Amino acid sequence: MSSIYLDNNATTRIDPQVVATMAEVAGWRLANPASQHREGAKARRLLEDYRLQLLEMLGARTRGMATDRLLLTSGGTESNNLALLGLARPGTRVLISSIEHPSITAAGQYLAAANYDVRTIPVDSSGVIKLNELDRLLQESETSLVAVMMANNETGVIQPVADAVALSHRHGARFHCDAVQWAGKRATEFATWDVDSLSVSCHKFHGPVGIGALCLRHGVGLTPRLFGGFQQDGLRPGTESVVLAAGFATAMQLSLTCDYSEVAKLREKLETGLMALSSGVQIHGRSAPRMPHTTNVSFPTMDRQAFLLAADLQGLCLSAGSACASGSSEPSPVLLAMGLERTWVQNAVRISLGRDTTAEEIDRALLKIDKILTGSPKR
Ligand code: PLP
Repeated sequence: MSSIYLDNNATTRIDPQVVATMAEVAGWRLANPASQHREGAKARRLLEDYRLQLLEMLGARTRGMATDRLLLTSGGTESNNLALLGLARPGTRVLISSIEHPSITAAGQYLAAANYDVRTIPVDSSGVIKLNELDRLLQESETSLVAVMMANNETGVIQPVADAVALSHRHGARFHCDAVQWAGKRATEFATWDVDSLSVSCHKFHGPVGIGALCLRHGVGLTPRLFGGFQQDGLRPGTESVVLAAGFATAMQLSLTCDYSEVAKLREKLETGLMALSSGVQIHGRSAPRMPHTTNVSFPTMDRQAFLLAADLQGLCLSAGSACASGSSEPSPVLLAMGLERTWVQNAVRISLGRDTTAEEIDRALLKIDKILTGSPKR
């Protein structure tokens, strides 16, 4: 029997329509969009058209004098690194929420080692940032950059970004938002949210791996991290892939027509089923507003590593948390930041659905989880 893929926060399966578009564009055998000849100009026009489509679909300003910018990158990790290292001003404070993806926290550690005053914004027990703490940290010292994600990759908990942006701007700080787990599932409103920069990754919404974007508000200056080309105004040089950009625009387009309320119903079915399987099951962040595709669950009787191993043997693809930390048995910093007891953190498993997940797969997954739990030695 085929495996059941419930690790969509790590990556989603590429949509066949995206594959078809990319194959078609690859078949055109385009020139380098930076080349001066007519074939190069043709590739450039296509690329800029995809870029404009993406900006529009992400709710950015595309008309008038103050238009926003979209830098194509290799994905969420690069976009987050570029934003953190490129927007923070030396000698100032940088504020990072305690539940950010490793591509933000590790960039923060790099800044801290370079003598930036990097501080953490704490979260409450449901995984939502404490706005009063953000306010206090902003008042204490001149802050150049605040980074708070839109939705957490481990729990799905949605952050009060609008309020955090307003506070940050009131104190003269730029605001970066990692929207990797949000974009392609819910409407992204770059201009309305008033953020200064925003990260998106295409493989999180059934597009190809290897392309993402950093949206930059009009007028926001960015220090580049790569050198050696004039592409994208030198802010992110290197030959742009028209084929990947075509896949990106198509995946985004398809995501706009997808109804995630169906995914929310499946997640509800899964969580109800999980709670019926074993008493004392804990679903983390459940009391906060969450994305419809993510569940983070601890079973009281089962260690996470043993559970994931047994699940894999059953053909059930789940994960412990961030894909960047998979393979590591370190407890999740996100759940620790929420103040969870270590045993619960140690047992936590992430189950993430995609728009191609079916009710039949959820039923089969629950049967397999039941088998794993009843077959496991009680602690
Ligand atoms: N940010 C978040 C919230 C993520 O979930 C991920 C990937 O899991 C990333 C950033 C990194 O994205 P990418 O895999 O495209 O580098």
